[in-house]
Order: sequence, then C-alpha cells, then structure tokens
Amino acid sequence: MNIAVIGSGTMGNGIAHVFAQHGYAVALVDISEDALKKALVSIEKNLSRQVEKGSISEDSKKQALANIATHTALKDGVKSADLVVEAATENIDLKLKIFQELDEAANPNAILATNTSSISITRIASVTRRPANIIGMHFMNPVPLMKLVEVIRGYSTSDEVTNMVMELAAKLGKAPVEVNDYPGFIANRILMPMINEAIYALYEGVAGVSEIDTVMKLGMAHPMGPLQLADFIGLDVCLSILHVLHDGFGNPKYAPCPLLVNMVQAGHKGVKSGSGFYQYQPGSKELVVADRFK
Ligand code: NAD
Repeated sequence: MNIAVIGSGTMGNGIAHVFAQHGYAVALVDISEDALKKALVSIEKNLSRQVEKGSISEDSKKQALANIATHTALKDGVKSADLVVEAATENIDLKLKIFQELDEAANPNAILATNTSSISITRIASVTRRPANIIGMHFMNPVPLMKLVEVIRGYSTSDEVTNMVMELAAKLGKAPVEVNDYPGFIANRILMPMINEAIYALYEGVAGVSEIDTVMKLGMAHPMGPLQLADFIGLDVCLSILHVLHDGFGNPKYAPCPLLVNMVQAGHKGVKSGSGFYQYQPGSKELVVADRFK
C-alpha cells in the first residue's frame, strides 16, 4: 500500500515517520522545499531517539528513511497512492483547493484522509467526486508518541473505507477511535471548552495561572494543566477551534473568553511566540508564569 502525506510541518512529518517506520512507501509533499528539508531532519532525529531508547534498530531507522520520498508537486506525489493523508495548514479554503486537486490527481479508488483538527469532513467531501472515500484521520501531536487516532466518518463515508482506515491505524500501533463528523469531533469538543473555562476562571480572578493548572494536574491527574496545554497547542489554534464550535452549534457556551481573544490579537500565542500564560526561553524547561499574570 502506497501512502502520500500532504504537508510536511509538525504533523505531516510525524505521520510520514510513523507510516515509513511500519514499512509503507511514503511520498511526502509540501509546497515548500525548505519545509521538506526540515521534515527530513526532524524525522531522522526522532528515529535516532528511538534507536537510542532501544525501541527500533539502526537498520529499521535506515529502512524507514529509505521509505520516504519528497515532492513539491502534488500530482507527482499522489499518482500511485492508495491512501493520501492531508496535513497541510488549517485553513478551509486551502483544504478545499487541495481536495479538488487530489480528486483530480489521485487514483479514483484512493482513500483521501485529512488530519484536520476542526474542519468538517463532510464539507471537504462535498468538493470531490468520491465522498464515500473521504475520511478524517486525526493524529495527535507528537505523532510518533501519541496512541490515539480519531477516525472521523463524514456524512457519506462508507463502512468499507472506515473499516480500512481503522485497521490501518491499528497496524501503525495506534488506538483508533471511530467518531461522527460534528464540530470539534470528540477530542476538541471536550478539550476546548475545558481550556476556555480555565481561561474564564483566570479572567474572572478565581485563581492564578499556576493555581488553575495545579488543581487540574494534581486533582484530576492531568499530565499538564489546561493553560500550559493551551500554550503548547497555540492560543490562535485554540481560538479558531472555539470559533468552529461556536459557529457550528450556535450555542453561547462555546463563546471564546475575551482574554483569549485579546491575547491572540496581541500576538501572545503560547510556546510558538515565546509567551502566553507562561513565558518561554529557548533551551529552558523551567515553567515561568508570564509577567502579566504574576
Ligand atoms: P504546520 O503549519 O506545522 O505545517 C503545515 C505545512 O503545510 C507547512 O509545511 C506548509 O508549507 C504546508 N502546506 C501549505 N499549503 C500546502 C499545499 N497547498 N500543499 C502542500 N503543503 C502545503 O501545521 P501542523 O501543525 O502540522 O498542522 C497540519 C494539520 O494538522 C492541520 O489541519 C491541523 O489542524 C492538524 N493538526 C495539528 C495538530 C498540532 O498539534 N499541531 C494536532 C492535530 C491535528
């Protein structure tokens, strides 16, 4: 079975890594030559870490790297693919355009999956001539380490395609979970309101940043508090997923906290911008509350 992965950023390189490590030929496609180079460096580094830990051999690492080919032209990458996993930037217009191109370029029987965090699978399927073959395959970050794959059935996704993708995810050593296509699926429908509520609690002065995170870590056995997790995901990403939930259900309970909106507008997007609820120094693992919230 040949795999194509579209987008070689954070998620795309992890998805390519996992398929290649399990023996699949992977065509990794990105519009940016630079992104492809960086992806190969990350995959090499992450495979080496697995070798150091003894979870794979040096030979398996070499084989996995040899299984990956890179392309900047989508049609070259997908022409012999049986399954395409799209992991390009989270933008609906971009995804609709990519799926129209995929529908033209890929084998008519190929399954076209998307790793989207929040865009409707049914909407994506509507721009193709093969809605039964369109499915969500939502991997978690970091892909080589996280077990869960949310497998999202669009309105027209066939049983056959769903079963194939569930089986394939299991072959990758993942734990696939089947869900239906409604806003936020399951992971973000439950996670994002929790993060939003934590931000509301901070905004209303119920408790400070580290107090809120400590309650959830020690009280609920979460490995990371919701505010730290929001910084890690990216506050802009959290905001855009809350908009999807709010628009999709029309329920005010999903309205993003005004503090989150302000932080994103001010460019405080979490780890990637150097500050959010915490501040981040390159190379330091110490968790320091941002000055504003001290
Ligand atoms: P990213 O910004 O790290 O990478 C996106 C890549 O897509 C970039 O390298 C970009 O050059 C490439 N790209 C843009 N347009 C393209 C095109 N037309 N053809 C090919 N490549 C193109 O993004 P990411 O964090 O890896 O997210 C990718 C997808 O995965 C999004 O849909 C996102 O919602 C989803 N997702 C992200 C996470 C996460 O934690 N980052 C978790 C689960 C799902």
